Formats: sequence, structure tokens, C-alpha cells
Amino acid sequence: MAENPHAKYFDYNATCPLSPAAKEAWLSTAEDQWQNPSSLYREAGMARLRLEDCREELADLLDVDDPERVVFTGGATEANNAVVRYLSGEGRSIVCSSIEHPCVQVPVEILFEESTRFELPFDSLSGSVDLTRVPEFLEKTNPTSVSVMAANNETGAIQPWQEIASLCKEHKIPFHCDAAQWVGKMPLTGLSECDFITGSAHKFGGPKGVGFLVLPENLTPDGLALQIGGPQENGFRAGTEDLAGIVAMMAALAENVESEQTVRTGADRDAFEKEIEERVGCELILRDCERLWNTSMFVLPHSKNLKWLTRLSQRGFSVSTGSACSAGKENPSRVMIAMGLDYERMGRVLRVSGGWKTSREDWMALAGSIAEVGGEL
Ligand code: PLP
Repeated sequence: MAENPHAKYFDYNATCPLSPAAKEAWLSTAEDQWQNPSSLYREAGMARLRLEDCREELADLLDVDDPERVVFTGGATEANNAVVRYLSGEGRSIVCSSIEHPCVQVPVEILFEESTRFELPFDSLSGSVDLTRVPEFLEKTNPTSVSVMAANNETGAIQPWQEIASLCKEHKIPFHCDAAQWVGKMPLTGLSECDFITGSAHKFGGPKGVGFLVLPENLTPDGLALQIGGPQENGFRAGTEDLAGIVAMMAALAENVESEQTVRTGADRDAFEKEIEERVGCELILRDCERLWNTSMFVLPHSKNLKWLTRLSQRGFSVSTGSACSAGKENPSRVMIAMGLDYERMGRVLRVSGGWKTSREDWMALAGSIAEVGGEL
């Protein structure tokens, strides 16, 4: 088997290397189908057909009935911003979790008054929204919309988005799910129950700057045009489509959906965690909870996380401090606050996130290097 060139890369939740299938799709499309899909000659028509094939394929994978509900975007930030903007306005209110990605959280804080935005009760032991309290919370706050992510980018904790989607249906309010960390890693089943779904290609091996937004049925571009000034994407997003990027995104997604059954047990990550707990004395965060199979977050036994990160980087390993690297009293990580970590422990947190081809040996090599660094610091 060919050696994995990314064996020491453990920051897949931040971004992924372009998958071979995506690279091949990108290059061939950029070379052969570079025409503007809106132009009128035959080659442009072929590009348009290819674009619509991608839309159908994504709708199919997500089990969305009408491909016209799919809008290709410049990533999840753009899509999430647009959804929050659409859900805001006079007389509107929103319920979110306390661990949303900043591209949801910041527009919510800007576009909704304090009296019209509410944070769902959170259970720091499971790292997720406390589902048992959601029905009562929705009764009490009576919001006009709800937005909850599928899985958290820092901890990997899976959120009860399916159940919240059903509750929103009962309340007849729109539900937005930021599925950027879910799509490509977890089964897509059930996502079509959400009214708005957002995702990002570079989180599953596609190119950066490409993503998607799935809209509810019968929505018109009034109030929800991501960009204006052109008819592209059925009026929802003006601007010449990045066909090569979109085709590459679909190639990466198709590949990951096929590999669904083989890699997603989390067993290699679990073996890694056992190793760093026993050998290094790391304190694992959310070990026995429902998490993405690729993510591990832990508190190091001593010294600042940046010191560990630098030493690991010198050994070729790429890891992350989550957003805790800038943690301090002025700029604390909201996720870690929600998790109940104090400032001192936040400064000792590392997050590692593997990929689809990260092997048991790769995980163990990282554990070995963490043990080595622990002996040096
Ligand atoms: N939502 C979540 C949960 C993410 O992890 C990210 C990326 O970090 C985003 C949204 C933003 O995605 P993009 O980089 O495509 O704008």
C-alpha cells in the first residue's frame, strides 16, 4: 500500500489535504470545462449540465427531494452568515447552542438583540446540548428559528440535531444545522429533516472556498440572496460558478460516503487516547461520550499547550490547541468555557483530529511523540 503522505497531519477538523479523487476531478474540469456555465455555446452548455449533475448528486446523497434547493457557495461561513441573516429581522428570535462556530455565533450576536437570542441548556459532561431540557426551553422562549450544529469542531461532540429538528417541526419553526464537521465523516441519513443545511468541501477532502447550502422548499431569493447582481444559482448566489471546485467537492464526498463503513469506528483514536492517558497522564475530554470518530481533545499534564505544539511540530506532527491558543481572560474559548474548563486548564488543551487514511500506526506514532515531548518539558 502507498505510504500516507499525511501520516503526521492531525488537524483535519481545521482543514484536509485535497483528496486524490478531488484533485483529479478539479484538474480535469479546470482543463476541459472552464467555460462559463451561463454562456450560450455548446461547451458552456456542457458545463451547465455538469453543474446541474453535481446539484442532483448532492441532493441525492442528502436525500433532498428537489435539487433546486441546493445552492453552491464559497464555503460554510458564507452559507451560515446568509442563513442567520435570513432568519433575523423585525419580530424574529433565535435559539442556538452555546458552542456554535463563530460564523453562526457572531452574526447571531450582531443581528439579534439580547432579548431575542437564547442559548440552549448545555451539558458539559457530554459536551452537547442538554436534550432533556430542550422541549421546555422551546416552550418558554417560543423562538421563530433554531440553529444547532451537527458536531462541534473543537471537541468533536455530536449534538442531538435529529431530535431538535423533529421538535422544530412540531413547533413549526425553521431549523438550521451547521453540518460542516459532520458531512463526509458521518452518515448523511436524516439531514434532510433540517430546513437549512450548510457544509464545507475542505472539511472532507474537497477544495477550500467551496461549500453548500440546502434551503427549505419553496423559498425565493428575496431576503436570502447570498450575493446579488446575477442570476446564478437560481438567483440565490450571484457570481460565476466555480465548476471545478464543485465537481472536486462532489468527488471527495462520493469517496468518503463509500468509505463510510470501513473507517468510522474510532477504535484507532481510542487506542491513542488510552496510550496518552497511561503513558503521559493526559486528562481526556469527553472520552466516553458521543464524538466524531476522528477527534480527540485532552488536557496535558503540565506546561503550556503551545510548547507541546511547537515540539510536536518540530517532529513533523500538526496538531491544534483548538481555539484555546488565544485563551485568556480577554479572549476565552466559548466552547471550553461551556465545557467548564478554567483558564489555566484551557492553556493546556490540545486537540488532534485524524483523517480517513490515518492508520493505527499513525495514531500510535503521535502518542509516542507526545510521550517524548512530555519527558523533555
Ligand atoms: N462551521 C463549522 C462547524 C466549522 O468547523 C467551520 C470551519 O472551521 C465552518 C463552519 C466554516 O467553514 P468554511 O471554512 O468553509 O467557511
